Order: sequence, then C-alpha cells, then structure tokens
Amino acid sequence: MTDDQRLKQLLDLRTRVDHEIHILQRRTQARRMSTTRWTNVELVPCGTETAYARHRRRGETPCPACKAARAAGERDREARRQARTVA
Ligand SMILES: [Zn+2]
Repeated sequence: MTDDQRLKQLLDLRTRVDHEIHILQRRTQARRMSTTRWTNVELVPCGTETAYARHRRRGETPCPACKAARAAGERDREARRQARTVA
C-alpha cells in the first residue's frame, strides 16, 4: 500500500470516528438533559415540593408557591394513605 492510499484510509477512518463521536455526544447530552431536568434541584421552579425542600435546605422560609405545593402534596399523600387504610 502506498502512503497516499494509507493516508486516504486513515482520513476516512477519522471522518467516521468523528461522526460517531459527534452522534454519541449529542445522544448522551440529550439524555443528560432529560434526566437532570428534575433531579437537578437547582433547575426546579418554585411551586413544587422539590423547590420547597430546596428552600428548607438553604435555611430559607419557603415562598408561598412552594408552601402551597408542599401542603397539596401532604394532602395528596394523606388522602392516598386514607384510601389505602379504608380499602
Ligand atoms: Zn419557592
């Protein structure tokens, strides 16, 4: 094989490798985005129980939206617990 042929082979290989890396990076980034959306607490908007917990962890007084979400969550869990004990 001549140097020219080998060079062409390697360049082809590099193009394929780059392409595959690019695809895999996009795929793993997309997956990370979708899973961190709600597990990354910093991104959770106020008005959720997760945000309520974040307030508490920071030693803040939870804002009204978060308090309401927390209360609703408590009510929901309580209702489910009652439904289970009745049934
Ligand atoms: Zn809040």
